[in-house]
Amino acid sequence: MFVPSLDLRALQQKPKAGPPQKELPYRSWEDLYRQKWQWDKVAWVSHCVDCYPGNCPYLAYVKDGIVWWEEPGGTFPTIEEGVPDMNPMGCQKGACWSQLLYSRERVLHPLKRAGERGEGKWTRISWDEAITELADSILDAIQENGPHSVVLEGTPAQGGMMSAMHLNRIINDIGGIHNDVNAVINDFSPGIYLTFGKFNPASSNDDIFHSDFIMFTHFNPVYTMIPSYHFMAEARYHGAEIALVAPDCSPSHVHTDYYVPIRAGTDAALALGMAQVIVAENLYKADFIKEQTDLALLVRVDTRKFLRQPDVKGDGLDDQFYFFDTRSGQVVEAPRGTLALGEVDPALEGRYRARLADGTEVEVTPAFEILKERLRDYEPEKASAICGVNPDVIRTLAHKMATKTGAILNGGTSFKYYHADLQVRAYILVMGLTGNWGKKGTGPIEWSTCSFDGPFIFAGKSRGGLEETKQVLSMREDMIALLKAEDPTLSDEMATIELSARAMPNQSMTPPVFFWYYQCGYKDNWNRRQWNDPTMARSFDEYLNEAVDKGWWEGVVRPTDKSPTRVYIECGGNTLRRTRGGQVQLLKHLWPKAKKIVTIDWRMNTTGLYSDLFLPVAHHYEKLTFHIPTPHLLTLTFSDQAVDPPEDTLPEFEISRRLAEKIVERAKDRGFSEYLDANGLPHDLATLYDSFTKGGEFVTPERIAEEWVQDTTFVGTLPKGTTLDTLREKGYVRFIDWGLSPISLNQSSDLKPDETHAAFRWHTENKIPYPTLTRRAQFYIDHDWFLEAGEEFPVHKENPPQGGDYPFVMTSGHNRWSIHSMNIVNRIIQETHRGRPHLVMNTDDAAARGISDNEEVQVVNDMGSFCVLVKLSQSVRPGQVISYNGWEPYQYRGWQDAANVEPGMVKWLHLAGGYGHLRYWPLQWQPAQVDRAVTVDVKKMEAGG
Ligand code: SF4
Repeated sequence: MFVPSLDLRALQQKPKAGPPQKELPYRSWEDLYRQKWQWDKVAWVSHCVDCYPGNCPYLAYVKDGIVWWEEPGGTFPTIEEGVPDMNPMGCQKGACWSQLLYSRERVLHPLKRAGERGEGKWTRISWDEAITELADSILDAIQENGPHSVVLEGTPAQGGMMSAMHLNRIINDIGGIHNDVNAVINDFSPGIYLTFGKFNPASSNDDIFHSDFIMFTHFNPVYTMIPSYHFMAEARYHGAEIALVAPDCSPSHVHTDYYVPIRAGTDAALALGMAQVIVAENLYKADFIKEQTDLALLVRVDTRKFLRQPDVKGDGLDDQFYFFDTRSGQVVEAPRGTLALGEVDPALEGRYRARLADGTEVEVTPAFEILKERLRDYEPEKASAICGVNPDVIRTLAHKMATKTGAILNGGTSFKYYHADLQVRAYILVMGLTGNWGKKGTGPIEWSTCSFDGPFIFAGKSRGGLEETKQVLSMREDMIALLKAEDPTLSDEMATIELSARAMPNQSMTPPVFFWYYQCGYKDNWNRRQWNDPTMARSFDEYLNEAVDKGWWEGVVRPTDKSPTRVYIECGGNTLRRTRGGQVQLLKHLWPKAKKIVTIDWRMNTTGLYSDLFLPVAHHYEKLTFHIPTPHLLTLTFSDQAVDPPEDTLPEFEISRRLAEKIVERAKDRGFSEYLDANGLPHDLATLYDSFTKGGEFVTPERIAEEWVQDTTFVGTLPKGTTLDTLREKGYVRFIDWGLSPISLNQSSDLKPDETHAAFRWHTENKIPYPTLTRRAQFYIDHDWFLEAGEEFPVHKENPPQGGDYPFVMTSGHNRWSIHSMNIVNRIIQETHRGRPHLVMNTDDAAARGISDNEEVQVVNDMGSFCVLVKLSQSVRPGQVISYNGWEPYQYRGWQDAANVEPGMVKWLHLAGGYGHLRYWPLQWQPAQVDRAVTVDVKKMEAGG
């Protein structure tokens, strides 16, 4: 039957005979046109790279083994009546993705370096030679320097769930190091984590439709969230107002109601100004604050620390805190197992006396009272003097947030400032004061993955099948039960976090801060006094040593200076582009240490150019995989193998399988098998392949994918009856529950089939505590280091001059044309812009320096320099320049890109630990390098270039 449709598949069908048509003499043009749209095969695919949230189901059209065309599926149903659906989902990169498969930067054979690193001389080698060389290098490293000398760079990879995951398993089994991707890419928000004990609340994209007032901060969704941007426009049609706060006037600003220009790095002043108005004008939601936040907890005036049980009773729980109950007039224990207040009505204001265990009394006050005092420094006129936003605008924003259903979307740039934590904590404070989380259309939003439990259950299995699945699940349940027996007040969310945190010393995933410090030369940058915040009382080294000596990072202080990195593997990332400090730091400090640098990728990127071995992988559409699922979409998106990989390329899984097999073979030849790593954990290489294939049962991605889907369905996160075959038919399936992982449970809301998802509802509706030290959203951090820095509450601090004393601050953000550097040299995409890197600069600043549009300039600071064409624009603030990220370093003169001027600073406070939720578990609390508002100068090129 002919189906009138925009779907290309409809073109293969001839219209049913209608009324008789007059015979035309010449119809061959029609035949030609129809032949153009004939296909051998159509497959559901996606682009499983980190185009977060991505997950767009596409149809790939194949003829004669070549993908000729792709188009968005557009088959999502309506979830909630009255709320727009997700369709069509797609972007311009996805629309020409198939061009990448046949592009010139594609590498089609394993390559071994023939000249110097970066010289561009390569020898084509066989897969067996390549895998043998890598296996031998790994064995040499383990035998000479221990397994911590083998480092796999964390990456979301370029092949979805079926790509880097298997290499991770090998690194885990041999005891190597796998750098935590959330610090490597710096998508970690320390401000959200400090407040909630989790960084990743992520309401579904369509939930924003329920908002009345939306603040974007440093967010440019027109560039960065193309498939889901329509919800913001639809929310406006629905009556919502949108305010965009950012230093530069981004292309998103024309789609907002208010554009609020702000001096770079001063958001904390703006947000605290809003908070001051809300408190001073009694616009705050007292009931929400008392129940959901730590602001009613009592603080000792003498020590500035919370009043704790050991203070009151002489011993007891260090995380038992107190309220002053206005009904009984007593100091009472704050409940730990629930947020429900019962008969207690905690005071938010006033000063009281508390009796200590030794019989003396101290003065105590609710944290809210201290906050009120501190906010006096941020009355709108005072805040305005810092951030440059008009006081009336600050009042307007505050009134809107206090009286409407409001959300604040802090864009990725918000996490990449030196004082990003203070900025985001201050915005969350505004939401806390106004009760704006835990209901539809509200809250802060970060990124998260969710619900695809199959891959993680698979990692714990020794063979296939449901019986083994049940055993893995029962073991997990037993461990959770043990933890709850230790502390019956733990929620499921807290217990799974606890389990995850305790397992870290036995896992290869590691916060990369120690790798950067000991192996990559950042120790010198981080100890440069003038590049840090002036309130940092001691040297970086002193803080780091204290953190290590006190055991705050026990089990994950690796590698140390005793394990020089010998093998460094990058699978699907591009570390010389992505790492702050890039070539300046890594080529100088890491590269000389490493005997083998390996790039596993589909294309020759800048890191590949400086590698010793290049292992070419199959592209998307040439291998079976899944997109990384996320609460923003709530779907598992399947990407099928539509065509065979060309020539000598392999899927990442097959490369990993061959590597595991080869390590076993070469270790046996050496008579080497068992050893201990630096943490004292035993490893046995003889079992590596068996463990990798689960006794030989799993040697193809197809078989593994079946098992993943089976187990995920079994635990109840996918609907009954979901199989790989049903996914092949439809391309995606919507999750029906969160599953087991802590990062899923962090969403803390029931997942309903006919409603948008808003995070935090278990806390606000079911009164389940938060996974923080105080078990409440925590604005007051009474850790010694935070008190020393004056950051127990969010405050404004000036952005330190990272890079030296220079007149401009350089900011960044995702460009419009690429997902990181993935598509940046796609010829079709290049034709849509200048095709080369550029620096956006204020027109008047440029005129003052005699710089004209499209002129090449030199950007310099104490760290280094790079040359780039200038794009003049009045949309950029004077004193700011924008260098969007994602350009390949090899697109710049001398291959020197913007990372050259980024010192890669981390904030010392993020090494703090030994304090409730301030501890490491995967993707969570850890220092991450920052790069926004680095100081630079912009100069005309010297004669001769
Ligand atoms: Fe969607 Fe990402 Fe593909 Fe674009 S590249 S269509 S955002 S999955």
